[in-house]
Amino acid sequence: MKAEIIAVGSELLTPYRLDTNSLYLTDELNKLGIRLVHKAVVGDLRDEMRSSFRHAMNRSELIISCGGLGPTDDDRTRETVAELLGRELHRNEEILRSIQERFRKFARTMPEINVRQAMVPEGAVILPNPRGTAPGLWIEAEGHIIILLPGPPAEMKAIFEADVRSRLARMGDSERLFSRDLRVTGLPESEVEQRVRPLYELYPDTETTILATPTGTQLHPRIWSRNAAEAEKILDEMVSRMQLALGEHLYSTQGETLEDVVARALTENRATIAVAESCTGGMLAERLTNVPGSSSYFLGGVVCYSNELKSSLVGVPADIIDSKGAVSSETALALAEGIRKRTGATLGIGITGIAGPGGGTPEKPVGLVHIGISDERSTRERATRFPGDRERIRFQATQQALDTVRRYFFFSAHGRT
Ligand code: ATP
Repeated sequence: MKAEIIAVGSELLTPYRLDTNSLYLTDELNKLGIRLVHKAVVGDLRDEMRSSFRHAMNRSELIISCGGLGPTDDDRTRETVAELLGRELHRNEEILRSIQERFRKFARTMPEINVRQAMVPEGAVILPNPRGTAPGLWIEAEGHIIILLPGPPAEMKAIFEADVRSRLARMGDSERLFSRDLRVTGLPESEVEQRVRPLYELYPDTETTILATPTGTQLHPRIWSRNAAEAEKILDEMVSRMQLALGEHLYSTQGETLEDVVARALTENRATIAVAESCTGGMLAERLTNVPGSSSYFLGGVVCYSNELKSSLVGVPADIIDSKGAVSSETALALAEGIRKRTGATLGIGITGIAGPGGGTPEKPVGLVHIGISDERSTRERATRFPGDRERIRFQATQQALDTVRRYFFFSAHGRT
């Protein structure tokens, strides 16, 4: 069954409100084996709404709208759809009573305009709204199912869960969507695409979405199938090939965060970690401790912005800072080694850089970050110049620091350094 979603509401066409309902609905529809072929956001204008519904009916059997079921003049979904289908609206006394009851419960009298919410197109099934006044409506017409849901996300979800899901499940065919969630870091999106593209031809029944996110690139291979075992087998095989194509840049085939993967590597290796952060101001410590149970491997961290604290708390020799500068390979190495030695951790991480917007020079431009990693045997460092604004530079620095730790374990497991 092909489906469409229409999000109704002029506020959704402003920069201030995003249509999130359709994300929830898409996920739920996919789980039911229903394929979304189109979605639209339309304002409260009657002509625009009519045209959206008409086009949707030309394409799809199932149309779900959300929004525009409220009591005010600009809430026109119910009237528009009734008119389009040539159905009259009748007042439903039961709905009216339940709306009045709801107002009474909150010690208020129902304003006259709310009567509108009790108007129902002929032949519609009423989907009670446990969280608000406007019920949802299920209308079957001309070979289509049109479901009207209210806009507030909590109300829309409550009605979907209580009634819509089970009704759709009874009629959906048994085709389901199977998917995987692969995470890649350290490769640009285009390079990821280039490496996996040859696989698309090998697996013509699959479809792969590539998403660039602040934490790296995500790959979502998907397949619609009636045969779960076969679908899983195809995806497993495809993921193995992706793994080969992406090598050490692939950090999860199960949609984990980098923090989770680093946490697992530290735990499995019975290793501990401590950090000395300058330009990231504690963000690395914050990300490491986002994972529950992090106290078993995260010993602690020092946020040291002043040169004095870099020396007194982490043991960076003052002459290194004087001769090489606070933002330098040597300082990053000394931060990583110093924090490891002072805390007794297995690994020490040092970060120093220029997050901007000021403070850059031709030799040390904004975005330059040095990340050091130290273990018992050696201390290494890498300089990177990150693009973007202050926030992005700081975040990317913590991402790279986490990735440095992940790669440290990856390469020691694979016998490389
Ligand atoms: P109400 O009775 O609250 O007026 P309604 O069905 O008329 O219900 P709208 O007035 O269109 O719904 O929207 C109410 C609120 O719900 C909006 O201000 C917005 O916060 C939220 N909302 C509406 N549509 C969406 C959407 N597609 N995604 C996320 N939020 C939405």
